[in-house]
Amino acid sequence: MRYEGRLYRPPSEAQSYILQATVGCSWNRCTYCDMYSDKHRFRIRELVESLEDIGMAGAQFGPRVEKMFVADGDALILPMDHWEAILDRASDTFTNLRQVSCYATATNILEKTDAELLRLVELGMNLLYIGPESGDEETMRRIAKGPRPDGYSRSDDYLFDTHVEAAQRAKAAGFRISTIFLLGAGGVERSEAHAESSARLITAMDPDYLSALTLTVVPNTPIARMEANGKWTLPSVMDLLGELRTLVDQSRPTNALFRTNHASNYLPLGGQLPTDRQRIVETLDLALSGAIPLRPEWSRGL
Ligand code: SF4
Repeated sequence: MRYEGRLYRPPSEAQSYILQATVGCSWNRCTYCDMYSDKHRFRIRELVESLEDIGMAGAQFGPRVEKMFVADGDALILPMDHWEAILDRASDTFTNLRQVSCYATATNILEKTDAELLRLVELGMNLLYIGPESGDEETMRRIAKGPRPDGYSRSDDYLFDTHVEAAQRAKAAGFRISTIFLLGAGGVERSEAHAESSARLITAMDPDYLSALTLTVVPNTPIARMEANGKWTLPSVMDLLGELRTLVDQSRPTNALFRTNHASNYLPLGGQLPTDRQRIVETLDLALSGAIPLRPEWSRGL
């Protein structure tokens, strides 16, 4: 197992074997993100290297590996010949493998045909982490959440719609999907629209897992420069919690495991939606009234 640069994975993949089959993010333009700033040029690792890594992990961990997370930032972009070989080798090597997952952009999913998505599921891949971050078209556009076609007009809901289509196609192929939303992404100016439209997008994508992270302004990112120039302001902690309340209260997923267990959040919460909606909203109301202590600033992380 050989790794290049900083590695990122969702909190729920803490026990997973991480295979770094790509290096960096093929998009790498979201204005708040510096996750792969140490990897300026995205590249797909040589297939032979990825297969060797699986062999090394097999020798070291063998049947103890039950979950494999394929990194880095949008590994679904891997071509099908890589996926076929990686997933075949993984299932031969890790006899107790029950979950294979990766981060995916909406574009990554839409660039795969239905037959390719079905084939990935057939080969054992079963979970995609998708981060629209917001459902507010204006916010998504401002944070550069994915490519837009020429002729895109201000009234189009292109980014919203592509995320819905990507979710529908992934789920139709048999994937479970985990969606990630970013509290604060709209700044003060779009805070309400960001929260309300994110709830709409959650309903439309209907994820199996839903998590919210809190935006941390990282030095030297475009959003940090906008903040320094007075063009963007992060909402207050209480307003960020208010966004979370709107997200939970207004979204209507069929049955989603909801979590705010990421280190960036001020209040770790969890439950099933819609079953636990009322309890979670009441907890948020207590936090908003000051009756529940929040995670101190020093203990938060990216
Ligand atoms: S797609 Fe993800 S990893 Fe890539 S720049 Fe955006 S937030 Fe960062």
